[in-house]
Amino acid sequence: MTLLLIAPPGAGKGTQGERLADRYGVRHIAAGDLLRAEAQAGGPLGREIAAYQARGDLVPDQVVLDVLTPVVVEAAARGGYILDGFPRSLPQAIAAAELAARLGVTLQAAVYLYAPDAVLTRRMLDRASQGGRTDDTADVIRHRLELFAATTGPLIPYYKERGILVAVNADQPPDAVTADIQAGLSGLSLSRA
Ligand code: AMP
Repeated sequence: MTLLLIAPPGAGKGTQGERLADRYGVRHIAAGDLLRAEAQAGGPLGREIAAYQARGDLVPDQVVLDVLTPVVVEAAARGGYILDGFPRSLPQAIAAAELAARLGVTLQAAVYLYAPDAVLTRRMLDRASQGGRTDDTADVIRHRLELFAATTGPLIPYYKERGILVAVNADQPPDAVTADIQAGLSGLSLSRA
């Protein structure tokens, strides 16, 4: 199973990504988590990543690819991956397709979780009040949502045209979202991907 998870911040892609990975027995690769780990490790590259993340800006593509590629290569060799938070732009989607082709795997589905901005903002502010992430401040949240709409949004028609998009309403309890994702995946003709 090779699946992409595309969602605005606060839509629950971490939770759903873990569940999908458990279900299909493949690795859950969360781009934001791997980049945060790299940032925490320090050094010049870590500091550069931390600065982008603190502002809610996208980390440059080459840096993201350098961090993700070895993990994706290893996961592909073990049967697949749930790639969460990558790609986040059309150039990254092209890079993701090239990487999959190089590894001889087919991207089988792109799951898109959507919810109103007001719901996403509330969830992120709740997460912040529980001692969550430093990029969950009102200004940075607004910027991340705008960036998602402008830069990641074009991936929705891109994957729809390729016949592998599964769009799911994320403004529901987590179990209902998981059930809808599974229904959507079973409705896809995976061999067409
Ligand atoms: P997330 O954990 O998915 O909310 O991502 C947190 C932050 O990590 C984002 O706001 C970006 O700064 C960075 N990031 C995560 N994924 C990517 C990506 N595919 N491309 C560029 N930056 C990313």
